[in-house]
Amino acid sequence: MTELQPARGTHDLIGEDQRRHTHVVDTARAIAARYGFDEWTTPIFEDTRVFSRTLGETSDVVTKEMYTFADRGGESITLRPEATAGVCRALVSNGLTQSLPQKVFYAGPMFRYERPQKGRYRQFHQIDIELIGSAEPLADAEVIACGWAILEALGVAGDTVLEINTLGDKPSRDAYRDALVGYFTEHQGALSADSLARLDRNPLRILDSKDQGDRRIIANAPLIAGHLTEAAAGFYASVQSYLRAFGVPFRENPRIVRGLDYYGHTAFEFVTGKLGSQGTVMGGGRYDGLVEEMGGPPTPAVGWAAGIERLAMLLETPPAAPAGVAVVPVGDAAEAAALGVLQSLRAAGIRAEMAYRGNLRRRLERANRIGARAAVILGPDDIAAGVAQVKDLATGAQEAVKLADLAARLA
Ligand code: ATP
Ligand code: MG
Repeated sequence: MTELQPARGTHDLIGEDQRRHTHVVDTARAIAARYGFDEWTTPIFEDTRVFSRTLGETSDVVTKEMYTFADRGGESITLRPEATAGVCRALVSNGLTQSLPQKVFYAGPMFRYERPQKGRYRQFHQIDIELIGSAEPLADAEVIACGWAILEALGVAGDTVLEINTLGDKPSRDAYRDALVGYFTEHQGALSADSLARLDRNPLRILDSKDQGDRRIIANAPLIAGHLTEAAAGFYASVQSYLRAFGVPFRENPRIVRGLDYYGHTAFEFVTGKLGSQGTVMGGGRYDGLVEEMGGPPTPAVGWAAGIERLAMLLETPPAAPAGVAVVPVGDAAEAAALGVLQSLRAAGIRAEMAYRGNLRRRLERANRIGARAAVILGPDDIAAGVAQVKDLATGAQEAVKLADLAARLA
């Protein structure tokens, strides 16, 4: 029989990979909690309309990347490609639109049908935060500051640069849209088919094209700065001054548009040069229209998502494998007492295992193999004397320790 492989674009998390992943999530959760974000979990699959209505009919995600299928009852279901739409759906479904603000932390798997490569998978994982219910520029800055604090806590902030932009308010975007249509129409002969299709429907989306030919044309496209209303320019200036107050370094990049349609005002990315072309580790912005599109009242919101795999790759020193202790009974008669010691150590919070077979030498070999830091050796004489021999497996030093003191000694 042929050996089965993981589905294309998926990967298993085992050993160090899982430890890196867990470290990213645990760190992010702890920092987000300090900023007042509480964790939510929503379903991995949703009614397809949760995404098709909101992410933008011309976005890459909706046009090419969604895992959409009819379930056995004929409902169109989509494996979530991102978390924000589901969180907004949940806000509305759970009647929380009058209990604002809601500050949400999120971690879990996402699914996109992409061409797999380093840092780009079909099942990948994200951490997210969403601050729903505040229209203040301070909210944008706080969300970014929380992201920055997570990158700092992970020790990867120095590898990244925060780039920010504004997509303005509706009148700014309408004016900008006209300018873009004018510019890209002049160059339509050289645009990719995808971008050509977006020219009528969503010219802003062209700015996000990864096509090399498109990129050359985009380089000279007009910028939104010349089309901002006074209010939109003021909002952007406030976000920047709050970022300075928070001590978060940034630079402006007027080319950031983000891959999904729901953004307005602030758009930002933390980018790194260390991951080749998959250089965006965290991205987000303001999405004031999304809750309304989900059937709720108009609700301002801002948030970001970060790829856990990309963050895990940036971690300089991987979290160490856990080192517990191995309980080693000498002779069959010692086994029952050893089991009691084993359970008391576990009850005291110590990682402890017992090798199941063999003589003292073979059991100590196994203790080394599982990476134990110490062996707790129990022979019949030790048990009679109410002690265990604790052997430090790194140095080989051994001493007798009273059973009553064992947990404290090994903690
Ligand atoms: P990219 O430009 O790399 O395709 P994106 O704009 O599609 O990214 P977002 O939708 O903003 O990405 O998702 C937020 C973050 O999730 C990204 O910055 C990245 O770190 C991560 N991410 C997105 N798609 C993938 C993927 N297919 N595999 C691994 N991580 C991903
Ligand atoms: Mg993408």
